[in-house]
Amino acid sequence: MNKFMLALASMSLIVFVEHAVSRKASCHESCRYINSGHARIAVIGVGAVGATTAFCIMMRNITSELILVDVSQERTMGQVYDLSDAIPACSTSRVTVGTFKDASLADIIIITAGAGRKPGQSRLELININQKIIADIINQMVPINPKAVIIMISNPVDIMTLCAQKLANLPLNQVFGSGTYLDTQRLRGLISEKLGISQHSIDAYILGEHGDSQFAVWSSAQIAGTPLKDFCGMCPEELDRLAYAAKQKGLDIITLKTATCYGIASCVADLCESILFNQKRVFPISCFHEELGVCLSMPAVIGENGIEQVLSVPLDEKEKAKLENSAKQLRDVLAECLSSPVM
Ligand code: NAD
Repeated sequence: MNKFMLALASMSLIVFVEHAVSRKASCHESCRYINSGHARIAVIGVGAVGATTAFCIMMRNITSELILVDVSQERTMGQVYDLSDAIPACSTSRVTVGTFKDASLADIIIITAGAGRKPGQSRLELININQKIIADIINQMVPINPKAVIIMISNPVDIMTLCAQKLANLPLNQVFGSGTYLDTQRLRGLISEKLGISQHSIDAYILGEHGDSQFAVWSSAQIAGTPLKDFCGMCPEELDRLAYAAKQKGLDIITLKTATCYGIASCVADLCESILFNQKRVFPISCFHEELGVCLSMPAVIGENGIEQVLSVPLDEKEKAKLENSAKQLRDVLAECLSSPVM
């Protein structure tokens, strides 16, 4: 730590910034957490994804308190100071440097800690490094607020979600991963560009692994009741091209700028909003499927209890085979992980 950081640390590890009470009072009358006190969101890991997620959550005006935790005290303090400059522009009144114990008391715990994917590296290659980090984090947090919802972002997200589920000692519906929500948003964006229709009106999903074996569910993809396949230019080859482009987009961004952060941050903010406002919106998120023996993405209703319901999607025979392939890929990885002491 340099002198500046030491001076800050000696004054206080916690940055507490009061915000005009009058501004807060007018916000979010319908938010259960804010009405009953205030919502606290912890972000563990404040690198590119964690910091952008924290900023995105602040700008959405969905929480009064943000707790940032990272193994790097300097980085955490730097992010807290930087984010505190944005407080006048939003309804968040506290942004603090926290401990794992502080994070364990939050209403929502977002985990973004871990190594990022290097160019050319698959998400599954990250597993050995990141599963140790996730196990370490969860072990330092337990016992966790029994009402907390944990949202896993660290990759490979399906494996890390399972790891967190095993160690957190919370009901499974309260621990899920961002899964293929980002991939789905990317696909909808590409379809939107192609058809000139807002992506908010496009009902199409990418399901399965957040990774190489993910697949687009074209058999039920539609806009206003019209199957996507019936739109001009949406031949099977074009649909394949769009699904491939959506899958590759993450790697393309990483190749250009070494990390992705804005898309995932806005996805996480959507999930937090649906939890805190009990919106019960449907998201493709990673959760445990007993019949498949793994965590992977299916559409689920997200509300104040985390996963309120997992929806069963009609799949054609090809899609069923792709789902089973995705589960098999993940089971194969898990078989390797089981020999590791942290799982
Ligand atoms: P980053 O390197 O910028 O940040 C990671 C942070 O984790 C660092 O600040 C590091 O100090 C911290 N960290 C490491 N070990 C820790 C520990 N034990 N406790 C607390 N903090 C710890 O990486 P990033 O670009 O922010 O990516 C973070 C993760 O998010 C990666 O695994 C990446 O693959 C993943 N990611 C997932 C998605 C998705 O769709 N699920 C999208 C983008 C990135």
